[in-house]
Amino acid sequence: MSASEQPTTPASPTTHAFKAEVAAVLRLVTNSLYTNRDIFLRELISNASDALDKARFTALVDPTLEGQELPAKITITADAQRRVLVVEDNGIGMTPAEAEQNLGTIAHSGTLQFLKDAPRGADGRPEVDLIGQFGVGFYSAFMVADRIDVTTRSAQAGSAAVLWSSTGDGGFTIAPGSRDVRGTRIELHLREDAKDYLDRSKIEGIVKRYSDHVLHPIEVATIDEAGAAGEAAHQVNSARAFWSRSAKELTDEDYAEFYKHVMGGFVLPSDKPLVRLHATMDAPIQFKSVLFVPSRRPMDLFGEDAKHLRLYARRVLVMESCDKLLPPYLRFFRGVVDSEDLPLNVSREMLQEHSSLAAIRRQLTRKAIGLLVDTAKDDAETYTKIWREFGVFLKEGLHTDNAHREQLTELLRFDCTGKDGALVSLREYVDAMPEGQEAIYYIAGESAEDLARSPHLEACRARGWAVLLMTDAVDEWVVQDLERYAERPLVNVTQGELTLPASEAPADAGELAPLCARARAVLGDRVKDVRPSRRLTDSAACLVDDEAGLSRNMERILRMSGREIAPKARILELNGGHPFVRAALARVAERDEDPNATLWIELLFDQAGIAEGLVPDPSGAVRRIQRVLDEVAGVGGQGATR
Ligand code: ADP
Repeated sequence: MSASEQPTTPASPTTHAFKAEVAAVLRLVTNSLYTNRDIFLRELISNASDALDKARFTALVDPTLEGQELPAKITITADAQRRVLVVEDNGIGMTPAEAEQNLGTIAHSGTLQFLKDAPRGADGRPEVDLIGQFGVGFYSAFMVADRIDVTTRSAQAGSAAVLWSSTGDGGFTIAPGSRDVRGTRIELHLREDAKDYLDRSKIEGIVKRYSDHVLHPIEVATIDEAGAAGEAAHQVNSARAFWSRSAKELTDEDYAEFYKHVMGGFVLPSDKPLVRLHATMDAPIQFKSVLFVPSRRPMDLFGEDAKHLRLYARRVLVMESCDKLLPPYLRFFRGVVDSEDLPLNVSREMLQEHSSLAAIRRQLTRKAIGLLVDTAKDDAETYTKIWREFGVFLKEGLHTDNAHREQLTELLRFDCTGKDGALVSLREYVDAMPEGQEAIYYIAGESAEDLARSPHLEACRARGWAVLLMTDAVDEWVVQDLERYAERPLVNVTQGELTLPASEAPADAGELAPLCARARAVLGDRVKDVRPSRRLTDSAACLVDDEAGLSRNMERILRMSGREIAPKARILELNGGHPFVRAALARVAERDEDPNATLWIELLFDQAGIAEGLVPDPSGAVRRIQRVLDEVAGVGGQGATR
């Protein structure tokens, strides 16, 4: 019988299979023995704490919610007589349907993928001690238990208690449960090798280490082998909000642990926050905040379940993910905000619109950008890492956040010729400009290496001018947004006429006129124009685009995004100083329709295309090259040369 056909409160136990992904996660969890198993307790406590928070804010909009008089509490009981560890809370609880849904599937869509992508040891298993470093939620309890019984009762008025039970191999059963108050009691039947989790000091140590900052009291109680209660239960955690503590008394390890908490457990061992900010603001609005920039893109950044900052009002969690605290382009920041100036007793909808949020957002945005600016200034290496992971978001900000445009412009980084892969800022570029260089030059395309070899860079290279190599799809939009930096225009070296100092203008641009005219006639509408080049020094020819209109790279990107862009004829530029071009010129001057000159013009056009990796007529190009080679080899007139 399938799960969905069951009535919500079955009279006798019913059996259900785990969803495939749960089974896969469970296999990974239980196979990774010898990892840091302690974290299962952190996960269960964190779920219990969330359940208490949920009960609190659900009560704001639902006065019928049961158990509002109960003081929030999490109790851990080590029962040596039954070899059971109990984690119990009086939070929101679950209805039978919720228990079946929540404890039979994986809440985060990316979990399985994340685990699959985790680095492997030689035996193909996830690295020892790895699983233990990030959250697999409730299921991590199967690392220490061979059976888990969950008795839960929802706070919704009139809900029935339910008993969920599983041995972690394939499925679970659901049966009526017995529980008088709202909340959840999780009984872990400890594996033989996990008996030490009954030890009071061990439990207290784990709670202190991982869950000290949980804001609800966590009590530990014991029952000895004869069934007698041990020393009275007492609160173990300090329940002090992490952010309320002074930054001075906190160590890097403290922040790293809090970071894991903030990231919901999705943290690889190597994933330390790149930078952090611990801020206290008093005017015009009071709030405290701890922000982190993760070391890699959180996997939910683009998804619908994207997480934002957690919002607390006077140390009570009021929103797990509040997107009003930072502008969207700074959504890669993770952390918490706690304000004294937020009302506690309003619905989340009303809170979302509260004017204090806008004030917090203004200040926090300033702080967050300030953090990036300071990092860029003081620690270029770390900033480079930030830029490589999150630069694309900052570019989005340049487009959307006019108020911080100047600072965001200073945060831009690009690859650049002559830099061996190091990134440069526009400021660095301009400061290094030699006398005589008026503009900031750039070229855009797919890969920095290919771009660095492009013939379009020759004029700049010959003069010792650096060229920015833009490889991100959005870079050209960034340039269009900017137009100028420090009074200098940004110029695409593949577009328009290159303006060189007057002293360097080609001596006689008109000299090439007959060749250009002939080339126009030969190439017809395959080119928009043919003209002498100011940008070439070594190569004989190149293709460029009009100053107005889309660049090549933009066309490519638009096509990639599914837009139909008709291919547009380009301008062929010829290098008047190149011997081959001069030879062609001489031929044309002698006889306009000289067949060799015609062939050479075609070849110059082929070459310019080949240099950019685009050849409109590859087989024609090969035929023409062969004709010239045949001639050189003295075998002209053979079949291939038509
Ligand atoms: P996560 O906590 O990351 O969402 P878990 O696997 O740990 O994933 O838990 C799955 C879901 O089960 C939770 O999202 C929550 O809805 C529910 N749940 C777990 N523990 C409790 C609890 N103590 N009280 C109420 N609901 C719980």
